[in-house]
Amino acid sequence: MKEYYGGCHCGAVSFKFQSNERVDIWKCNCSICNAYDYEHLFIKHEDLTLINGDDQISSYTFGTKNAKHFFCKLCGIKSFYQPRSHPDMYSVNLRCVKSPPKIEKVIDFDGINFEDSIQKI
Ligand SMILES: [Zn+2]
Repeated sequence: MKEYYGGCHCGAVSFKFQSNERVDIWKCNCSICNAYDYEHLFIKHEDLTLINGDDQISSYTFGTKNAKHFFCKLCGIKSFYQPRSHPDMYSVNLRCVKSPPKIEKVIDFDGINFEDSIQKI
């Protein structure tokens, strides 16, 4: 495990987390992930620490409202959020990580058909 740093574009939101140096990420085809081309790296809640930005994070929900999409109030970037698929983890956007871990495998998740897809994980 190694320590990594991530955050939004303007720097108001920043965090650190522990991760393996080679990781599997998810790409999801649902409406919001597709719009971002979001690269999901799942990190346990206890392995991620918010450094700053607690008061700069706004959240957006839609549909079942189980996911909490956090974004920076200043620059609008979603650098991590609470996904519906992994209630005990955050999803870090690999694109928002400095010197990110190497991608071992990209797993395509069919988020459009969430209820069926989550059964197959
Ligand atoms: Zn920002």
